[in-house]
Amino acid sequence: MTPGTVPAAPVASGAVPPGPVDAAGAAELLRGASGVLVLGHVRPDADAMGSAVALATAVRRVCVPAVVSFGGPDPVPGPLRTLDPDGLVVEPDEVPARPDVLVCCDTSSPGRLGSLTPLLDVARVTLVVDHHASYTGFGTHNLVDPRAPATVALVHRVVAALGVPLDTAQARALFAGLYTDTGGFRLGGADALRLGAELVDAGAEPTELLRGLSGTSSFGWLAALATILAGARREPDAAGGLGLVWATVDAATAERYRSEVPSIVGHLRAVAGDGVAALLSEISPGEWSASMRGTGVPDLSAVAGRLGGGGHPGAAGVERAGPVEDVLDALRTELAVQAVTGDEPDLGDEPDRG
Ligand code: 5GP
Ligand code: MN
Repeated sequence: MTPGTVPAAPVASGAVPPGPVDAAGAAELLRGASGVLVLGHVRPDADAMGSAVALATAVRRVCVPAVVSFGGPDPVPGPLRTLDPDGLVVEPDEVPARPDVLVCCDTSSPGRLGSLTPLLDVARVTLVVDHHASYTGFGTHNLVDPRAPATVALVHRVVAALGVPLDTAQARALFAGLYTDTGGFRLGGADALRLGAELVDAGAEPTELLRGLSGTSSFGWLAALATILAGARREPDAAGGLGLVWATVDAATAERYRSEVPSIVGHLRAVAGDGVAALLSEISPGEWSASMRGTGVPDLSAVAGRLGGGGHPGAAGVERAGPVEDVLDALRTELAVQAVTGDEPDLGDEPDRG
């Protein structure tokens, strides 16, 4: 140091008080970190993946080391890897044992971090960036806004607050999350469309991006999908008379077609009318992940929440162990209860999924 100069004041990341933060507060926490580990929820979707990759890229840009990971049991699906051309994602067993700042993207509850949940106990700071109304309040700091159409919209604000111009990879990652969580801009209104346009201007080319995201499936997927859909059942009296359409995917099929299975619930929804669609896929033998879609009435996030899961009024999920009939019975019961007792949720910016 030149004589007479004053050492720069250390960045006081401890100066951001715990609790809710705005984008500037989140940026301050990240700038003051000695290292950042960005996580998204297990079995990530494009919103979790896009948020984590775009944010970690921005953090690196301000000269703070950052990596991304997703807790097991499942690996990141191949098509989502197209959102990570710079290889920021590391395997869960390669993450720093004691991250300084842990960021949890698109995760409403600690359990959504899967095998990486214990990191919450060792990180100095945990910042949750999320848009679920079912957010449980975990973490030391949070930037949570249920009106945001996707978590990527919140990440976009943080990246701007960090003063980092978007590169093409970040624009693609953010666009992918925005597109999928709004159901292809069906939801989210003009703000989502404006953000989408900005991301296209920044280098996200939708045609090529969405082709890569849907991936390519083997010919065998057609037969598997036909079998799954042929096994679908409709229960007109369920959900207080609105009806329930459900189907199941066994463990072997769920494992083999991991990238394709999340799309099935859309087929069920297309024939569920004003009712509820539910896909139950066996994530490991005897363990089921139920993915639900509806109009928001009954509020599926409340239904899933009472069973230990979460989500949004029109798109929610839960994991349950046991025979599939028991899982279905639990869903039937909670759907009936919610249909009778539930207040109508505010569906203003209701995200479609993710
Ligand atoms: P998906 O059906 O696309 O997996 O998820 C729909 C919505 O429900 C997303 O917001 C997702 O984060 C949430 N969700 C899905 N599964 C679970 C779960 O097991 N627990 C919680 N808390 N939320 C879930
Ligand atoms: Mn989301």
